[in-house]
Amino acid sequence: MDKSGQQINTAGVLYVVATPIGNLDDISTRAAAVLSDVDMIAAEDTRHSRNLLKHLHIKARMLAYHDHSADDAQDLILNPLHDGKSVALISDAGTPLISDPGFKLVRAARIAGIKVIPIPGPAALVAALSVAGIPTDRFTFLGFPPAKPAARRALLAELTERQETLVFYESSHRIVATVESMVEVFGARRQVFVGRELTKLFESHFFGALDECSGWLRGDDNERRGEFVIVLSGFAGPAIIEEMKAALGVFRVLRDELPLKQAVTLASRISGVRKNALYQAALEEDDNPA
Ligand code: SAM
Repeated sequence: MDKSGQQINTAGVLYVVATPIGNLDDISTRAAAVLSDVDMIAAEDTRHSRNLLKHLHIKARMLAYHDHSADDAQDLILNPLHDGKSVALISDAGTPLISDPGFKLVRAARIAGIKVIPIPGPAALVAALSVAGIPTDRFTFLGFPPAKPAARRALLAELTERQETLVFYESSHRIVATVESMVEVFGARRQVFVGRELTKLFESHFFGALDECSGWLRGDDNERRGEFVIVLSGFAGPAIIEEMKAALGVFRVLRDELPLKQAVTLASRISGVRKNALYQAALEEDDNPA
């Protein structure tokens, strides 16, 4: 039994193990235990993962695995699983299969009836969402935007009216170009969070409007280095329309008793809708501007 009361039977199990996205201390106790217990570790890059294993004092049999690995490489993992051996799948950082290899192996294991167990832990998109200050109740994760400008703009253009939060991964090579495409497509004032080098020594965050974000990136070479998560607010159009409808309701009641400007000022204070915007909407529906 482990601490959760679950029966431990590692025979024939494929463990999908999340590893740190920067800070090696983010490895979970359970992940470390599984990595030291399994018969073999399948890693995206064996050389890269040796650093983590060294940190954990684990000497393990390792094998390289990519989704584009030949079927033979997949069999080198599936056959031992069929024979009752245990295997852990890890990627260079974070959770395997999240913009990382593993999907084809996990699907093949499922089809073959092999038990697949997650050992959850860090994932850059979740770390970024947890500190972004942008709604997390509904979000879409889009991975890396296309590298070519036209394809990138076309993808972004499909997303302009999505109301849920949008999450992207980006590298240092394209962070400026991607944020600037976002300014073009979503408008300068859309709210954005950028998490750079999360959990690492030079971690930094940006929170504000898209055009200011592009200034932040361009203003300091260091802010363009490393790895990035972009968390973009959803389209607020429908919510703004609802707020304006409510504010106009208040305005109409006040307008029966007050001059237009005064009714607008008070309705704006009561509803929280900006005075200028409300004034424009009120003018459009007022038959008797004073
Ligand atoms: N499997 C990983 C996960 O669970 O997040 C993602 C792997 S993907 C190949 C690498 C991308 O994830 C980076 O280009 C960056 O967009 C994002 N990323 C990974 N680590 C990060 C970190 N420490 N800070 C910010 N972004 C990170």
